[in-house]
Amino acid sequence: MTTKVHGNHGDFAIEAKGLVKRFKSGKSFVEVLKGVDFDARHGDLTMVMGPSGSGKSTLVATLSGLLRPEEGRVDMLDVDDLWKMSSGKIDKFRLDHCGFIFQGFNLFPALTALQQVEVVLKFQGLSSGDAKRRATAALEEVGLGPRLHQRPTILSGGEKQRVAIARALAKDPQILFADEPTSALDGENGQIVIRLLRRAATEHGAAVICVTHDPRLEAWADRVIKIEDGKIVDDQRHTPDPNAVLASHH
Ligand code: ADP
Ligand code: MG
Repeated sequence: MTTKVHGNHGDFAIEAKGLVKRFKSGKSFVEVLKGVDFDARHGDLTMVMGPSGSGKSTLVATLSGLLRPEEGRVDMLDVDDLWKMSSGKIDKFRLDHCGFIFQGFNLFPALTALQQVEVVLKFQGLSSGDAKRRATAALEEVGLGPRLHQRPTILSGGEKQRVAIARALAKDPQILFADEPTSALDGENGQIVIRLLRRAATEHGAAVICVTHDPRLEAWADRVIKIEDGKIVDDQRHTPDPNAVLASHH
C-alpha cells in the first residue's frame, strides 16, 4: 500500500457513490447502472469483470467524465464531485490526468506511431522537442522503437494497441482506463498488453482500471470486481501473478 498522498482522497484515485445511468429506450428508460459504488487505488490494477451488456463501458464513461450519470457522484484525485464541474473543466481534467485504451485502438489513420503520441503531448502544451523525446521514450518502453515511423495500416493489432498504450502513458497519467484492451488481440499480443497494464500500475503507480469480459485477465489483477446487470456483485483483493500466461484464443 502506498503512503504517497496524490489528491484529497489518500490512497484512492477514484471514489464513486451511487452511480445511476439510464438510457432512453423508446418512450421509457432502461437503467444500465443501478446504484454503483466504486473505488480504485493508486498502484492497483483493478479489474472489472462482467458479461457483455452488464454495464462495464458505461461505468468507465461515467467514472471518467465522458457520460453524465443521472445520480451519484465521482470524486477523483483532488476533485470532489467531478460532475459538478463545467464540461470544459472536466475535459481538461481528463486530458491532464487520465489515459484511455480501447478495444478498437482509436488511432489516427494518417499519423505515424510517433505522431500519434506527439500530438497528445503537444495538445497538453509540451514543446515540439519535448513531445518528440517523451513520445519516443514511451514507444520504446512498449517495444516499438523500430516502428516509430509506421502508420496504423501496416502495424499489427498488437502493435496498434501498444501505440495506444504508449499514447496513454506518455503523459504519465494518474489514472488509466482500459476498456476490453485485449479483446481484439490473440493470446500472445493480449499477454503483452496486459503485462504493460500491470507495469503501469506497479512501476508508474497509476490507478489502472481495466474492464473486460475475459476472465483470464484476472491473473494480473490486484483486485477483481464483478459486475452483473448494472450492479457490483463481488469485490475481492487478489494476488497478481506476473508470470501468468494468456493462452491463445485459437
Ligand atoms: P458492456 O460494456 O458491459 O458490454 P455497456 O455498458 O456497453 O455494457 O452497455 C450496457 C447496456 O446499456 C447494454 O444493454 C447496452 O445496450 C446499453 N447501452 C449502452 N450505451 C447505450 C446508449 N448510448 N443508448 C442506449 N443504450 C445503451
Ligand atoms: Mg463494453
